Amino acid sequence: MKKPPSVSDPVTVLKGVGPQMAQRLTRLHIHTIQDVLFHLPMRYQDRTRVVPIGSLQPGQEAVIEGVIELNEVVYQKRRTLLCRMADGSGIITLRYFHFNQAQQEALKRGTKLRCFGEVRLSKSGLEIIHPEYRRLFDTQATVAETLTAFYPATEGVQQQRLRYFVEQALAILEQSDTLTEWLPDTVLKDLQLPDLHECLRFVHNPPPDAPIAELIAGEHPSQKRLAFEELLAHHLALRQLREQSRHEPAPAIRADGKLRQACTQALPFQLTTAQQRVIAEILDDLKQPFPAMRLLQGDVGSGKTLVAALTALDVIEAGYQVALMAPTELLAEQHYANFTKWLTPLELRVGWLASKVKGKQRQQTLTELADNRVHIAVGTHALFQEDVVFSNLAYLIVDEQHRFGVHQRLALREKGTAAGKHPHQLTMTATPIPRSLAMTAYADLDYSVIDELPPNRTPVQTVVISDQRRAEVVQRIEHACQAGSQAYWVCTLIEESEVLQCQAAEQTAAELAVALPALRIGLVHGRLKAAKKELLMQQFRDRAIDLLVATTVVEVGVDVPNASLMIIENAERLGLAQLHQLRGRVGRGTKTSHCVLMYHAPLSDRARERLDTLRKHNDGFIIARKDLEMRGPGELLGTRQTGIIDFRIADICRDAALIPQVNTVAETLRRDSPQSVQPLVDRWLGGRQEFRRV
Ligand code: ADP
Ligand code: MG
Repeated sequence: MKKPPSVSDPVTVLKGVGPQMAQRLTRLHIHTIQDVLFHLPMRYQDRTRVVPIGSLQPGQEAVIEGVIELNEVVYQKRRTLLCRMADGSGIITLRYFHFNQAQQEALKRGTKLRCFGEVRLSKSGLEIIHPEYRRLFDTQATVAETLTAFYPATEGVQQQRLRYFVEQALAILEQSDTLTEWLPDTVLKDLQLPDLHECLRFVHNPPPDAPIAELIAGEHPSQKRLAFEELLAHHLALRQLREQSRHEPAPAIRADGKLRQACTQALPFQLTTAQQRVIAEILDDLKQPFPAMRLLQGDVGSGKTLVAALTALDVIEAGYQVALMAPTELLAEQHYANFTKWLTPLELRVGWLASKVKGKQRQQTLTELADNRVHIAVGTHALFQEDVVFSNLAYLIVDEQHRFGVHQRLALREKGTAAGKHPHQLTMTATPIPRSLAMTAYADLDYSVIDELPPNRTPVQTVVISDQRRAEVVQRIEHACQAGSQAYWVCTLIEESEVLQCQAAEQTAAELAVALPALRIGLVHGRLKAAKKELLMQQFRDRAIDLLVATTVVEVGVDVPNASLMIIENAERLGLAQLHQLRGRVGRGTKTSHCVLMYHAPLSDRARERLDTLRKHNDGFIIARKDLEMRGPGELLGTRQTGIIDFRIADICRDAALIPQVNTVAETLRRDSPQSVQPLVDRWLGGRQEFRRV
């Protein structure tokens, strides 16, 4: 007798899956029946009821019914079929870019139609682009009884197909063996997690009486249980990566800290306790014979760069090289300036590599890097181009790396490999990620926080005012500058085009020059040559400029303690994090600084909330928490680059409340049932390359 199929069988046992389809399914990481079962709906479509057109909201997916009132072909950018449909409660436009004669006929005036699609708001009102449609001839057609699952799909594997495969896979699950429950009984009981089989059946095929709103919001216990298991699997996978890296070789740094002490003594200030603590943590890492992977988090101005520099000195003292990579050229330049300032007195050489460094200069830096004459190289991604060879890189510092994911982290480590040894890696970020979130998003990293700002920084006083009071603001600048202070005027412009941005900034600078004839005004923007920018910044530092008009290029890397007033024009256009970064440019000296958030009315509720948050708070952690509440960690971390890639069902924002439990259960599992770790990881991440290495 033929053995009944089991969940571990290859997908080819399913009807409709031949070699070609099996090949396509691998693109969805589907190899086995179990993989099909865990290919979860990314969302649901509610086709269970007909929605009155008058109550549609942009962004909503809905079934609507009505009569075509108008059918015309227009020539806009391309030939377009527009149908206007009405149902007595409202009208909507159906827009088709691809259509044939028969379709045009079918959608003629007077036709009764049922459509499904995503509603959007266009200049001419509500519309749906390429809705699915069906003509209604009899009086009533039935609607779907249950929510329709919508799966991640790929070319040549459409929704219908996926639903058909899932149906078969569920049948196999039903009649044959079971999926192993890898979560220990105690955990299941404690958290009251529903049965795994039931959850899978439910999410793939919600019964007619399923609570629709709950399912669509992803709040059903079945979804929660699966999301929990998925988050757990990710956490465990990242932890495994970290453990594996402990078996790889890295240079163990041996140094007395002579250079570090010399540099510290030359500083005009004392290190904060927090800086000292994280320096010690990092130095401990560097002594190990396996590659460190650490995340260093600290608010803007908390002194991360200095921590990076001081720890780098031990590596240099031990005879190795260091690389510091920043995401933008401006930030890299600032680091280069700082490192040069700190390291040159110690007779160390700092190299500079960015994409605009070309020709002879670049060649020379490359040669010096390869000869070990450069001790530390500072730059952008250009540091890791093919032709860049370090003679013995041992420490890689990456600023603001929250923009990169786990595979980039690993890729960098590979690239920096010298003589079979991986460099240690330190990632610096000013994004204050809540600890529990960091433990999941960065479970492959150790974690240090600078939770203290250098002393003598008085909090910046922030006000929010309308641009109707611009004249008062301008006066305020005059007073401040006459009293010996300096000021920033930040132009935040909506235009995508850099050229337009710069023009608008020029315009503002010209206007301010007329209004403030007694002040020396400088203008920096993204299109200035680096040398020119540097010159202007130098003049501003030297107090040869009173008022610096700038585009958001000043967001990073500018450090002028005497500047104590910042005006941010159209502040409503910026996000919380960016505003906080910008404001961090003032409040660096000892006198009280002020920040004027100038907005252009009307303010949306969310914009008002953002500006209010800034007015009330100076602490980056609090601001980040608000940011998290308002936007969700997806945006905060840069969804796809969190290192938690492409979740099947979990949503790190929606499921944030599960994260502390995920972290605890991960510990329990690693301790009490280590044998279940690998199968859990395989179940959720089995097909993913980045977790397969080693
Ligand atoms: P971050 O990179 O964390 O935003 P920086 O390293 O740029 O912060 O430091 C901001 C400013 O504070 C710099 O001018 C730096 O020299 C200065 N700084 C760093 N540590 C201290 C300290 N312990 N006391 C006083 N000033 C400090
Ligand atoms: Mg910094």
